[in-house]
Amino acid sequence: MSYVGPDFDPPQPRRNRRRTLTVAVAALVPGALLGWVMYEALGDPGGSGGSGTAAVRPSSPASDSAPTDSSTSDDKPPGPTPTADSTSASGPLQGKVVVIDPGHNPNNFQHTAEINRKVNIGTNWKECDATGTSTNDGYTEAKFTLDVAHRMRTLLQKQGATVKFTQDGDRSWGPCVDERAEIGNKADADAVVSIHADGAGAGQRGFHVILPGKVDAGAADTGPIVTPSRDLGERIAGSFVRVTGNAPSNYIGDGTGLVTRKDLGGLNLSTVPKVFIECGNMRDTKDAALLTSGAWRQKAAQGISEGIVSFLHG
Ligand SMILES: [Zn+2]
Repeated sequence: MSYVGPDFDPPQPRRNRRRTLTVAVAALVPGALLGWVMYEALGDPGGSGGSGTAAVRPSSPASDSAPTDSSTSDDKPPGPTPTADSTSASGPLQGKVVVIDPGHNPNNFQHTAEINRKVNIGTNWKECDATGTSTNDGYTEAKFTLDVAHRMRTLLQKQGATVKFTQDGDRSWGPCVDERAEIGNKADADAVVSIHADGAGAGQRGFHVILPGKVDAGAADTGPIVTPSRDLGERIAGSFVRVTGNAPSNYIGDGTGLVTRKDLGGLNLSTVPKVFIECGNMRDTKDAALLTSGAWRQKAAQGISEGIVSFLHG
């Protein structure tokens, strides 16, 4: 769920500009957005990964299986038992540090006073953290983000990356958004991705990647990270389309799947390349069917991870 503060209006949908802006952005970075261009050309208003998206799917086995698993608690991510900080011995990403920030915390619901405490995000003060959203059936965003994060860690470690988490459901609440940023900064991370799922209205579907805007206020100075973060975000968005077969958001980002914001502490306070991704809308039943599927979450993790790998390879 996005942290939309009371004094910041969320970016507004401008559907009439959708195709124009998609083409314009694609012209700037044709490689990263090739999947979108192909997707837009093929068209799939439902965005459900139907047959119309087959041409943009990669040939890897993980993307070939349909998301038929709708369980919410039985499916476990592959790989070893999670640890807070682990490194693979070899691989193309050896020496690279990736920080994964699983949005929210499963225990935030029991600590509303703590997470409602205001922290300084440079531009203003905002709540320490939020509970996050859930599907209509009660599958929480916090549970979703941890599951995707675990799957990503396994994939990235296979590439040799050192992977760190900001939290692993192993603390009673938080961390606060300023601490989440600080963890990536102190790790001198080569890339940081904050994992989320949105809580928008029914019928609003699809993913979007949130990029840091240019902010220079108080402790926030995003000047050095705006450009590399956009590169990271565009690569993640492109690979997310290719691997999941799902369309970018139909309610934000003009169909590009990219949104720039200046009101998120986790981005404002980052000194290393960082983006958020809202993987889908938990309050839409069709998106919820994907988000609660272990098979689909594996695709989501793969899509995000492939974007990170592409970014780190240059
Ligand atoms: Zn969230």
